[in-house]
Amino acid sequence: MAEPRTPAEVVARAARATDLADLDAEVSNCFACPRLVAWREEVARTKRAAFRDQEYWGRPVPGFGAPDARIAILGLAPAAHGGNRTGRIFTGDRSGDVLFAALYRAGLANQPTSVAADDGLTLRDTRIFAAVRCAPPDNKPTPTERDTCAPWLHREVALLRPTLRVVVALGAFAWAAWWPVLRDVYGQRPPTPRPAFGHGAHWSGTSVPALLGCYHVSQQNTFTGRLTPAMLDDVFARAKRLAGVDD
Ligand code: SF4
Repeated sequence: MAEPRTPAEVVARAARATDLADLDAEVSNCFACPRLVAWREEVARTKRAAFRDQEYWGRPVPGFGAPDARIAILGLAPAAHGGNRTGRIFTGDRSGDVLFAALYRAGLANQPTSVAADDGLTLRDTRIFAAVRCAPPDNKPTPTERDTCAPWLHREVALLRPTLRVVVALGAFAWAAWWPVLRDVYGQRPPTPRPAFGHGAHWSGTSVPALLGCYHVSQQNTFTGRLTPAMLDDVFARAKRLAGVDD
């Protein structure tokens, strides 16, 4: 079947996915945002010197983790030389190093590193995905690209809905991307005014997952000490408590 190339085709294909494996396959084959398609392919062609011998994934990066997750971690978009290179979200870059070390300490990952799609990493009770599935230039998707990609996220949450209890939003972009999910997946009106993003922010509704805010695990935050390992540990301990996940 031809790959989705328009927003309407993304809506139709996402709606048809019957399970996460199906959705992952569909999203990996998406060509609906011309600027992002050009960028992901250009990065995959030109490469970073350190990875010049590797074949880049150069496609949309699907979600990763447990199909019965109680906790979801929502990021912004794949990194050009991380997820866009390895084909797995937060894999092969410094952000992932920080994130997976924290998940391992929390007992939510079986190993503290995430370097390649075939490295044996598995997650417990946790799934990770991004609001936008293709690496954007300067890590900045346009509002149109965000909206075009949203159906993939919404379908993923719909498929996880039976078990999902907590969403950890990494950064303000992910936090903002959650409100349309409430409307489209849970049929609920998002709160007005929207609760502000902040590290440690917590929003709870009725019969919907709780939302926790966490500074993004970007190098900008972790190298400067704005986000420390202890702060991440606190967020995941809280997420586990709220989700009813055992130690
Ligand atoms: S960002 Fe999303 S909608 Fe746009 S091409 Fe990538 S997967 Fe498709």
